[in-house]
Amino acid sequence: MEDALLEILEALRAGQKVDAAWLDKLVRRYNKAAHDATRQVAKRRLLPYYFKVRAEEPERYARWQVTDELHTALVKLLQAKPRRTASGVATITVLTKPWPCSSNCLYCPNDVRMPKSYLSDEPACQRAERCWFDPYLQVAARLRVLADMGHVTDKVELIVLGGTWSDYPLAYQRWFIGELFAALNDAPDVREKKRAARTAFYQGLGLPRERNECAAFAEEVQHKVTNAGMTYNHAWRELYDARAHKQVALCIEGEEGGTEEGAPCSAEDGAPRPLSQTQLEVLHDENVMAAHRVVGLVIETRPDLITNESCQQLRSLGCTKVQLGIQSLNDDILRLNKRNITSERLAHALALLRLYGFKSHIHFMVNLVGSTPESDCADYARLVNDPAFLPDEVKLYPCCLVESSELVHAYEAGAWQPYSEEDLVRVLATDVLATPPYTRISRMIRDISAHDIMAGNKKTNLRQVVEAATYASGTPVQEIRSREIATDGIHLENLSFNVVEYETLVSTERFMQWVTPENKIAGFLRLSLPHAEAPARFGASFPAVGDAMIREVHVYGKVAALQKTSDGAQHLGLGTRLVNEACRQALEAGYTGMNVISAVGTRAYYARLGFEDAGLYQRRPLVGE
Ligand code: SF4
Repeated sequence: MEDALLEILEALRAGQKVDAAWLDKLVRRYNKAAHDATRQVAKRRLLPYYFKVRAEEPERYARWQVTDELHTALVKLLQAKPRRTASGVATITVLTKPWPCSSNCLYCPNDVRMPKSYLSDEPACQRAERCWFDPYLQVAARLRVLADMGHVTDKVELIVLGGTWSDYPLAYQRWFIGELFAALNDAPDVREKKRAARTAFYQGLGLPRERNECAAFAEEVQHKVTNAGMTYNHAWRELYDARAHKQVALCIEGEEGGTEEGAPCSAEDGAPRPLSQTQLEVLHDENVMAAHRVVGLVIETRPDLITNESCQQLRSLGCTKVQLGIQSLNDDILRLNKRNITSERLAHALALLRLYGFKSHIHFMVNLVGSTPESDCADYARLVNDPAFLPDEVKLYPCCLVESSELVHAYEAGAWQPYSEEDLVRVLATDVLATPPYTRISRMIRDISAHDIMAGNKKTNLRQVVEAATYASGTPVQEIRSREIATDGIHLENLSFNVVEYETLVSTERFMQWVTPENKIAGFLRLSLPHAEAPARFGASFPAVGDAMIREVHVYGKVAALQKTSDGAQHLGLGTRLVNEACRQALEAGYTGMNVISAVGTRAYYARLGFEDAGLYQRRPLVGE
């Protein structure tokens, strides 16, 4: 390993053309010459090895004579998956424990090893299962892997997945979020100590961990679900409740839990303990200046559980974005797929989320039972044109058949068929072209492995196929993701500023963006100017009349360490300019205050821009010059 690394350093030092192809060739040459497998060079291990020597063997590292420039070039060359932090933040996805869902949608998988709707083969699910769904362990493991891959992790977006967040007891929700923050706040040695203690705690309970152990544990009950029609919720009780299995029960149950004087949530004996709201707020406060700051916290829940109270609750946890399963706006299709909701209630949920400043990340499906390619296109057109909806982000993906879902019966009865690839691509391409410039299509497939899909799309590169179709149409794509500058360098003088204004049921929205001459997006801000009567109309106790809201500020470019310089967009002051311009425009529109739905780790940034803590938000009074 060292020889290969030294040869790479030498080539970089000599100014040779060193790129991915060159690196592949070098690795192949070393592996051909290796006498046995233990001497083989794995490309993905080179960077972790480099960082290990740098941290733990100072004498050897000194002999390598790595200058700052050489270090930067080496990390850039060896870094795996650069796009993971290209949007400006490192994403850490975690899963909540298996838990019943109070709905039972037709297409929803029923894998009893997972929270409802997830499959144990999905990568994030595998990681969570190996951590016993423990939030602290999941974050600790991801921080380690991201650091090994050379990613900067000082700005973190936490994405919490799991069937329906609002169905979990409040005490569990608070504990789960608190542990995420604790893992990010702790110093590396403390984190390592707690990780070991917590691992020992679960091992002491004799809980399965390896995939084959977990499969064996759930096999019998899973068989009843898949073959004998047992519901997920029933199976969950049999598997976890009836056997008093502590994997999902632990001690974090009940509505309350946690005391003001109680033990900290990550006690050194490893045992999880309930957490009070005050303790959670202490963890929030610690994160404001922590090494790994939370710049976004996303949960997913059902639209029928979005209420005035749940919005306040989500804010008190530090949540900034909500993933919501919408799937369709057609009431007949919603009913046929057992969604138990109407488009009117969906509109109400989105109105409340917008009033409270949350970013909405909605899931929308094509090819549901009862839909046709034409009805799907019409449905999506309504989603992106009707002022009642207009989401910020969309996961747009086709329904597919998974073994344990109820959809199997519809398939067998001939009531559902997957679209042909031609129809599917046509529908998705039409949807992409209909998407406005302020909406981001984040995904086009679900992270389900091909062998779990009995019928439906198995192409993992579906997005590229759809992009090729949109390109061939000659119509420019407006949606955000295809316009992100990703890892490109930025030249400030080439950027221009423009505003896209649109009306919603509750507000006038202004999407402010910095774009390149090619219409690539370097940064944007979502300004919400609520209609004065909207909170009363939708039963929201927020915001106060006269207050505007910054719902999102996002600056692209390769993630840059908080105190370091970068040639990306993050250090050109684009964010600050956007915030000041939003305040100016809101004042001009007659608003007297600006709220920002700041993530906990961005509070210091907004404080520097004149925002003060004001309940669940930060607020800046708007006054003229
Ligand atoms: S609400 Fe979500 S998790 Fe619950 S059954 Fe429907 S799709 Fe599955």
